Amino acid sequence: PGPNRRQDRSAFDAAAAEARVADLATGRAGFANTPDTDPDLPANRTWGRAVTGRMRGSDLGAATVREHTLATSEELERVMSAGVAAAAGWQALGADRRAEILHRAGVVMEARRAELLEVMGSECGKTLDQGDPEISEAIDFAHYYAGLGQELERVDGATYVPSKLTVVTPPWNFPVAIPAGSTLSALAAGSAVVIKPAHPAARSGAVMVEALWEAGVPRDVLQYVQLSERDLGTQLVSHPAVDRLILTGGYETAELFRSFRPDLPLLAETSGKNAIIVTPSADLDLAARDVAASAFGHAGQKCSAASLVVLVGSVATSRRFHSQLVDAVRSLHVGYPWDPRTQMGPVIEPAQGKLLRGLTTLGEGENWVLEPRQLDDSGKLWSPGVRAGVRRGSEYHLTEYFGPILGVMTAGTLEEAVGIVNDIDYGLTSGLHSLAPEELGYWLDNVQAGNLYVNRGITGAIVRRQPFGGWKKSAIGAGTKAGGPNYLVGLGSWKDAPVPG
Ligand code: GLU
Repeated sequence: PGPNRRQDRSAFDAAAAEARVADLATGRAGFANTPDTDPDLPANRTWGRAVTGRMRGSDLGAATVREHTLATSEELERVMSAGVAAAAGWQALGADRRAEILHRAGVVMEARRAELLEVMGSECGKTLDQGDPEISEAIDFAHYYAGLGQELERVDGATYVPSKLTVVTPPWNFPVAIPAGSTLSALAAGSAVVIKPAHPAARSGAVMVEALWEAGVPRDVLQYVQLSERDLGTQLVSHPAVDRLILTGGYETAELFRSFRPDLPLLAETSGKNAIIVTPSADLDLAARDVAASAFGHAGQKCSAASLVVLVGSVATSRRFHSQLVDAVRSLHVGYPWDPRTQMGPVIEPAQGKLLRGLTTLGEGENWVLEPRQLDDSGKLWSPGVRAGVRRGSEYHLTEYFGPILGVMTAGTLEEAVGIVNDIDYGLTSGLHSLAPEELGYWLDNVQAGNLYVNRGITGAIVRRQPFGGWKKSAIGAGTKAGGPNYLVGLGSWKDAPVPG
């Protein structure tokens, strides 16, 4: 996460936005279900219509910080009809009025930054240095998509037709920015939204939704539900009223959802198994630092994280590089987010299944350069692991583990290194550390990934400046990037569009 986020946001004039937002009062009255006038709202308004939530405060123990009830089928039916009924009014409001509300959403999230940070930390183990730019990203999405929505309405000679009811199913690893980005994009395009945050991030999602309601998004236009994983697929995603799905999660989940409703337009950001290539021409000090940060930021629980480093030629045998990398990783302070020393937080769910295997077992020919250790009884706190000797075609080479593990591979040439990267079915992020222009050119022309980073870390995409979207099995139904100029276009369809040619 670079300093650019802040620069991007400072271009936005909050005072001017507030002045525009003030004009909105009459617009809100146009809705039947403004928060203060709807008699049906449950007593605990935090939870919107369908979810009767009781929420315990965080106990800062990385233990359970959430407690929510799940929507029944009847409640879900009410949600779907309310969403469909509200969609027409939201669309008719027009992009300019919607933009005012979304700008205000950015202002409200800024005002609630501390609260968002607290809930992301206690619920999802986000450290302050990771959570703070994440909130900035959510705010940037609000302002950026507000403007894109206005542009869509001004396209000459064709009419943009938004979806009516978009279902948003975000993951737990970016508990604010991804739910916010998906929701704000659909809202800016003119669609009503039903969001179902991942269970481990239920409360972070709820605070984000509250901020949008506070900004003036009507409660029937944006509804929050919690459901069991089974009902999510069989009842929500399969529901006939849904006409678009925005999913961020594992590739298998996306495929499963697609099987429930093959006809449903789906925008899915899925898995990654990402590598940074380091060539002998690189600034090795910088490379060691960027590899460590990309692999272990948020304990490696980013789709964009570096899970492999491929060392080319003499870098593979450079003792200096190895000791720099190991020192950079070993010196990371592992802990819980409320400890200000913490640089790497916990894994969000106790390590089990594939991740536990990855933390405790080695493939053929591999050895631990740094062996991960479990640091307390929760199963969540692990020291970072670095494994060397990862072989081409091995399980570790090709599988996403989503945790604090880095694998070291070696290649004789850059061509071979790019081949190693392209063997992987996914293509989300990819990095090159090199100071040779011809190497950069070769890599750019040949590497298969949606997001390319040169001489920097490979996480932390930036709204507008570095839009984010994958290639190969890292994306489904996309072709447009989150935080980029075409994202909203992919969320609707066009009427009367001129036929090319
Ligand atoms: N957009 C995030 C980044 O650039 C990654 C999102 C994800 O993990 O799904 O690091």
